[in-house]
Amino acid sequence: MHKLYSNPHLFFVEHMQNILAIEGIETQIKNKFLGGASGDVPVFETWPELWLVNPEQLAKATSVIKKSENETGDDWFCPVCKESNAGSFEICWHCQTVKPDTSP
Ligand SMILES: [Zn+2]
Repeated sequence: MHKLYSNPHLFFVEHMQNILAIEGIETQIKNKFLGGASGDVPVFETWPELWLVNPEQLAKATSVIKKSENETGDDWFCPVCKESNAGSFEICWHCQTVKPDTSP
């Protein structure tokens, strides 16, 4: 299988998985349950990872991810917990607060 994406926050990985699922691309998340139980394993090796199930969908999956990352707009800061969120996220990854409407 081919690793498509990884991020220290499982929420981001699941978000990307949802975007890909909408496009009909099946993925699996690895390392979903390793975080926090990693002991002396380097932290980056325990990041949740998104893996492509069907290699024939690699080109499409890559373009969907690229598109999703490009059309994100500006990062925003959660008004509740002050965490930084990628522009593509409609809710705060940390506390699930809905993104404030900043459009004019
Ligand atoms: Zn928040």
